[in-house]
Amino acid sequence: MADSKKQRDHEDGPLFSAIVVADASPGSHAVPAGPRSIEVKASLARVSDSHQIRWGGELHIRLDCFICRRSGRTTWVQHGADAGTCSGSRNRRGLEQPHEPHPAPVKIASFNTSREGDRSSFRWLLERWWEPFYDVEDERDATPTVPWVRIIIPYRCPQTLAEYEDFTQSNLGWPYAIGCEDCGERLGVWEEAPQVRLLEAPGGE
Ligand SMILES: [Zn+2]
Ligand SMILES: [Zn+2]
Repeated sequence: MADSKKQRDHEDGPLFSAIVVADASPGSHAVPAGPRSIEVKASLARVSDSHQIRWGGELHIRLDCFICRRSGRTTWVQHGADAGTCSGSRNRRGLEQPHEPHPAPVKIASFNTSREGDRSSFRWLLERWWEPFYDVEDERDATPTVPWVRIIIPYRCPQTLAEYEDFTQSNLGWPYAIGCEDCGERLGVWEEAPQVRLLEAPGGE
C-alpha cells in the first residue's frame, strides 16, 4: 500500500548550541555533559479527517533540569522554537529557592508524519543539552532519561469552528479515543502508548 502513503517532512536548521557551566554531581555515576537526542514515536488509528488536527506542534516532556537543579521538571517544547520552557520548581522542603518557568536548552529538531489508510504515524526528534547535577531536594543524581512525554493535539470543530486541545501521554492508560469536545465525533484512537527513548550519545554510535 505504499502508493497510498502520504508523507511530509519538516526539518529545522542547525541544532541549538548551549554553553552552560554547572557543578558536577557529587555522585560517582554522573553521566558526562553533552548533547542528547530523544526520539518520540506515536501512531493514531481510525483517524477521522473531519476536524482540522494540527499535528506535531507541541510536546511536554519530563526532564531533569540542570538550570533549576531539580529532577522531573515538566518542560514545554514548541516546534520551531529555539528553546523549550522548564516549568520551574517549587520548594517542597525549603531547601532551595523556587524557580520560575525559564528557557531550557531543548528543541524539536525534526517532525515527520506519515499516513497509511486511516492510520497516522508520528516521529519527533528532540535535541537537548544535558549537564549532570545533584538534586538536593530529591537527594539523587540527575539522569538524562525521560520518564514520560505528552503529545498535545489541537483541533478545530467544523460545526462551530471552535478550537480545542486533547493530549496523549506515554504513561497513561490505553486504548484512548480522542472525541471532539464540541460535537462528540471520534477523531482517532491511540491503541498504544507513545514511545519515548534516549538515542545513543554522539560518538557512541
Ligand atoms: Zn528548570
Ligand atoms: Zn466537532
